[in-house]
Amino acid sequence: MQTPVPDYLTHVLSQCAANSQGALADYIPELAQANSKHLALALSTVDGTIYASGDDTVEFTIQSMSKPFAYALALQELGLNAVLDKVDVEPSGEAFNQISLDPVTKRPKNPMINSGAITTHALIPIQQGEQRAEKLRQFLSRLAGRELCFDLKVYESEIQSAFRNLSIGYMLRTVGVLAQDPLEIVYGYIKQCAILVTVKDLARMSSVLANGGIEPLTGERLLDGAVVRQVLSVMLSCGMYDSAGDWLSSVGIPAKSGVAGGIFGVLPGQVGIAVFSPKIDTHGNSVRGVKIFERLSNDMGLHLMQGTPSAQTILQSRYVLEQYQDVIVYELRGVLQFTESEMLLRRLQNEPAGNSTILLDLTNLTLVHNVGARMLFEGVKRLHADGHTVKVVDSENILSEAQLKGHKREVVNEALEKYLAKFHS
Ligand code: GLN
Repeated sequence: MQTPVPDYLTHVLSQCAANSQGALADYIPELAQANSKHLALALSTVDGTIYASGDDTVEFTIQSMSKPFAYALALQELGLNAVLDKVDVEPSGEAFNQISLDPVTKRPKNPMINSGAITTHALIPIQQGEQRAEKLRQFLSRLAGRELCFDLKVYESEIQSAFRNLSIGYMLRTVGVLAQDPLEIVYGYIKQCAILVTVKDLARMSSVLANGGIEPLTGERLLDGAVVRQVLSVMLSCGMYDSAGDWLSSVGIPAKSGVAGGIFGVLPGQVGIAVFSPKIDTHGNSVRGVKIFERLSNDMGLHLMQGTPSAQTILQSRYVLEQYQDVIVYELRGVLQFTESEMLLRRLQNEPAGNSTILLDLTNLTLVHNVGARMLFEGVKRLHADGHTVKVVDSENILSEAQLKGHKREVVNEALEKYLAKFHS
């Protein structure tokens, strides 16, 4: 059998294909030459599988979708505070190319609008003779898993009509947000926007973010978890510019669009998605791209606010082993986060003080978050204080060494009864 996922993606594309609304971005003359029929979709899982459909080999310029990655690189190299000193994280409610600064802080409102992105570009640290756009191209190539190139035609074309971005650059220099020559920085920023990608590249780049900064195929950590969290938060609140509220309620996935018609979205721990269709709406977002995301989010239950009710299922069973009256087994399953741990500890609270042996069997857990481990061992400590003997059965090594921190992991490779017979004899 073949997985139905590619067929489903093709079906979604065919349903959105007829929509001809929107217009090509013509303030960059070269983009007005794009083929408005192009339509592509790619989805990447967090284990690195990529499904794609439509014009998935067509390259287009990344444009504003470079902004979250430039922000990630700046955060990774300088740390959060140094970046926050220069660029805020507030949604602006304004167009992406608004010539504006926060009236109180005198900083750009966020790194997803041009004023913030130009400032972020200037933050990327370089050695003598290095170019920031080139450093970013190399970084994006690592995320995409292949060597990406600049589209110099699009770059030159935008340079010819960059009056607005140049005004933003000179404004930033005037108020001291930029220390460098605005011309060099704005040209560098425009070059960063001219990196060529396909939807497959974008899906793969998104999957690194979905996977908390680790490249799914190589296992290499490319970004710190805290950097990814910051980038996705800003994408969620500011990624779709002045339609961010609409997007959040109808799609509910952190995303970023570009005026060449691309949009990529990242659902943490699940998928990276990218679409391409060149006609954009008045906010600068691909018209068919938005429709496709709405459809995928609905069909596949991807909205962030639609959490899974996992807590109810944490306790698979609690039983007393017949031959050992004083041995109580708690079999857990699923993911142990705060909510699940709270539920487990509330059940354990019902155990009367005494000298029972309590076995917490983690064999069927799929993931233990740090908070889950901390709460689990706090429960163990309190059960001990009540007089019980508590064993944490972790035969599958679900707990990391850091989570174990001095606690003992019981490994049960044989039947539980046999194992119990050993420490009861
Ligand atoms: N290079 C474009 C600009 O600065 C990027 C804008 C966008 O994609 N929204 O105007």
